[in-house]
Amino acid sequence: MNIIFIAPPAAGKGTLSDKLVTKYGYKHLSTGDLLRAEIKKENDLGKKIEEIISRGELVSDDIITELLKNELKSIDGKFILDGYPRNIAQANTLNGIFSELNIENYVTIYLDLEEELAMKRALGRVICGGCGASYNTYFENFMPKNEGICDKCGSELKHRSDDTEETFKVRFSTYVEKTSPVLDYYKNLGKLEVIDANVESDEVFKIIEEMLGAQMTLKK
Ligand code: AMP
Repeated sequence: MNIIFIAPPAAGKGTLSDKLVTKYGYKHLSTGDLLRAEIKKENDLGKKIEEIISRGELVSDDIITELLKNELKSIDGKFILDGYPRNIAQANTLNGIFSELNIENYVTIYLDLEEELAMKRALGRVICGGCGASYNTYFENFMPKNEGICDKCGSELKHRSDDTEETFKVRFSTYVEKTSPVLDYYKNLGKLEVIDANVESDEVFKIIEEMLGAQMTLKK
């Protein structure tokens, strides 16, 4: 069963995806990660993407869809789509890509999270520049053992440049205006599951396991 996560910013899509990758062998496809990889190339496209992300706005559908389509074509096995679709046009495009690639077996999971908690999670989030592990300085269970240093690989921890209060507010309102209508789109297709994500990620993970149960096979 392939999974599409739809959620406000900092709802834990990345953390839950990591758990699903480790236990069930999913391939994690994050459009945010694809865009951040483009920024690292330091070319004209990367610079354009960086400006848009740092404002908290959505990158144009053409840019992101092209990147995503290439990745989806090369996937062999089950995947998690994290960060796409983010508007109705993208949902329609994804439907077309799925038809073209004969992908029918998927569920959309909406991680429902209150704005105040989402903001706290975003502002406290620090990410390892080496291995990509994520921590949170505002939540005891998610703090690194040594401030600013990754427990797993010892590299430096950094805030994402778009995890500022100002940018978070734009990202959240963009979510409400553009992304939340996508929920009705999948509800109408009979493909929507809703999870209360105002609890710790381990609990949300358990709910997903109970929900999908037999439809997910363990990693070999
Ligand atoms: P995320 O890592 O999912 O929080 O995404 C970070 C940023 O990348 C977003 O705030 C957007 O600027 C951009 N982005 C990610 N996915 C998409 C998408 N599907 N469409 C447009 N912009 C996106």
